[in-house]
Amino acid sequence: MAVGVFDLFSIGIGPSSSHTVGPMRAAAVFAEELRASGALERVASLRVDLYGSLAATGHGHGTMTAILLGLEGFHPELILPEEVESRLASIAETGTLRLAGAGGGGGMALPYGVEDMVLRPLTVLPRHTNGMTFTVSDAAGDVIHAATFFSIGGGFIVREGEEDAALQELEESKKELPLPFRTAAELLEHCRARGLSISEVMFVNERASRSEEEIRAGLLHIYSVMEACVQTSLKREGLLPGGLKVRRRAPDWHERLLKEDKDRDGRYWQEWVNLVALAVNEENASGGRVVTAPTNGAAGIIPAVLYYALHYAPGMDQATQADRDYAVVRFLLAAGAVGVLYKEQASISGAEVGCQGEVGSASSMAAAGLAEVMGGSPAQVENAAEIAMEHNLGLTCDPIGGLVQVPCIERNAIAAAKAINAAKMALWGDGTHRVSLDEVIITMRETGKDMSSKYKETAMGGLAVNVVEC
Ligand code: SF4
Repeated sequence: MAVGVFDLFSIGIGPSSSHTVGPMRAAAVFAEELRASGALERVASLRVDLYGSLAATGHGHGTMTAILLGLEGFHPELILPEEVESRLASIAETGTLRLAGAGGGGGMALPYGVEDMVLRPLTVLPRHTNGMTFTVSDAAGDVIHAATFFSIGGGFIVREGEEDAALQELEESKKELPLPFRTAAELLEHCRARGLSISEVMFVNERASRSEEEIRAGLLHIYSVMEACVQTSLKREGLLPGGLKVRRRAPDWHERLLKEDKDRDGRYWQEWVNLVALAVNEENASGGRVVTAPTNGAAGIIPAVLYYALHYAPGMDQATQADRDYAVVRFLLAAGAVGVLYKEQASISGAEVGCQGEVGSASSMAAAGLAEVMGGSPAQVENAAEIAMEHNLGLTCDPIGGLVQVPCIERNAIAAAKAINAAKMALWGDGTHRVSLDEVIITMRETGKDMSSKYKETAMGGLAVNVVEC
């Protein structure tokens, strides 16, 4: 299927889309295949091999526990936070996994835990650094089923050997879209030729697979999950998991803002935007429910900028609920259109192109969404997206301890501010600009290729090696 807005904004659990959501999804696919093949009862042993970045930073990113849950048959978009806790506690206590057990029927009990996984951090498979292989054998040691998957960012997975087929399927499905686009130039040409905004082009394409009401309800649901994530986070105090001793700041900041900004004075907009970004990313870091936007590590930027759009954009103080809903839908569609450009021409995976692909892409998408709801023309929206990415180029991924906490949490607040400024700058112009969005996307891709692997989600360089962990 062509990448759509509901692929870019999917509901999952923290802390990482590429290292938690993708691996859980891959493991769940493997478990389902086993169940469907009727071979589940013959399974006597299981082996999981993790390669490259998944092996290097998997512990900090919750990769191993996500895989255990996936092997039990749980899916990231459906699993409840309480199920995560109870199943992991049970596996740790009994040392036993219920292979494909979540689909009903009890599954196959196997002695297996995180410590049994084979880690190969220095082996990078040819397709992608986030590789994983699942193998099950019978009592005689004969392999019953084996599969290798790659988690390619944003929760997307690809099976080894099917990369070309997946690409072909993607290309075929794009032909079915009424207004297909791969580049910003093509997107702008659709806008020009049809007199549509960027969110409207995206909407026309989404209509190929969903009704108008489904699109609207689906996007409002996505927004409600973003809001719920913030509200949950504001009630949770204390240290984030993982041993870095990073304290949750959002609850205290919220209390202070409620006292200092009783009248919702416009002067405090930056503090509210920071609060939303921190709240989402603290929840993500603790393994809570978030919307990948377009990844988990960068999940706070779009909610924070959307918060700005709904509370501080001109005219919003007079807006009805219907106006606000309409703004949410347009924001997410325009942001989604820009997200498609990054998926098509570069990458949204920190392990592939560094943090510029995660936080940079989210900042660029958010800038486009904000410019759209503030009345920007397609050229101004494209300009906003371009400015935001231009000033995130070269951003490395070097999380301390492999945890999605430092620099990730604050980085979301900083990138949200950049997105807002980018949208404002673009709206003060007439849409003409020297560097195109396509040029900056290609530059991001090339910069990512040239970046040392130390700075691509391996926790082997930058802050990860220069900051003492305890
Ligand atoms: S540094 Fe950026 S890309 Fe790396 S884990 Fe943090 S948010 Fe994700």
